[in-house]
Amino acid sequence: MTKRIQIVEVSPRDGLQADPADLTTGQKVRLIERLIAGGHTRIEAASFVSPKAVPKMADGDAVMAKVPRIDGVSYSALAFNSRGVERAIAAEVDEVTGVVVASETFSQRNQNASIAESIERWAAVGDAARAAGKKTSVTIAASFGCPFEGRVDPALVVDIARQLAATKPDEIGLADTIGVAVPSKVASLVEGVSLAVDAIPLRGHFHNTRNTALANIVAAIDAGVRIFDSSLGGVGGCPFAPRATGNVPTEDVVYLLHEMGFDTGLDLDHLIQSTAWLESELQHSTPGLVAKAGGFPTP
Ligand code: ZN
Repeated sequence: MTKRIQIVEVSPRDGLQADPADLTTGQKVRLIERLIAGGHTRIEAASFVSPKAVPKMADGDAVMAKVPRIDGVSYSALAFNSRGVERAIAAEVDEVTGVVVASETFSQRNQNASIAESIERWAAVGDAARAAGKKTSVTIAASFGCPFEGRVDPALVVDIARQLAATKPDEIGLADTIGVAVPSKVASLVEGVSLAVDAIPLRGHFHNTRNTALANIVAAIDAGVRIFDSSLGGVGGCPFAPRATGNVPTEDVVYLLHEMGFDTGLDLDHLIQSTAWLESELQHSTPGLVAKAGGFPTP
């Protein structure tokens, strides 16, 4: 049996949204084309939230109009309300994603809604997306900790996951938005959430803010997770700590997984070259290590 792990590449949205650089639509499309050339089949390509709130993502429609349409390549986009999901459907995304934050304070600040309200909003977004034939995936942000409330009770996350499972998403994500999780906590939360959501696949979204993301991914794999988000070069991350390392670098994850005997379908050398390209487009370095060190040395 092949040990397959699916990587969802989030650099074009989660990554660039939090990066100081302001890439053009053309640069974003070229990034996506490179990702596909490196083997990516799931790409978070755009966000259809308020352009006033997130000006860097205001060109989502233009990006989606220019990306190559290839069988087997799925583009996802974030939407928080009916306007967003309408735009996502009009832009012909393949998958609509949502976010529910596992902290009342963070939820109010980030979504301008309580947890209960954002679950209701997601249910409506998910229904509209499904009715249009789209896949749906919802992520529980701040699953392990919150910048305002500190530690998040795992029982709250399990309860949110149970309510989200009732909205019948194709997938539920657990995000360590501020990079505070450690492997033991990941293992127990994945176990609790898995029981609450029945057969719905889980996706891990780990941030490397405190250098624990790779360890957390291994713990999540041991607990049964087979889908992970990552970002080329590790671009992006937590908007509350702009200079801190955020998203786990795709090439670091891929090196680890390939050496552990997992298949990702991704080409590590291609990813490393793409990281160098992305650094030149962003005009700054990225925090990943494998892009600096290279893959396993060949004699
Ligand atoms: Zn992230």
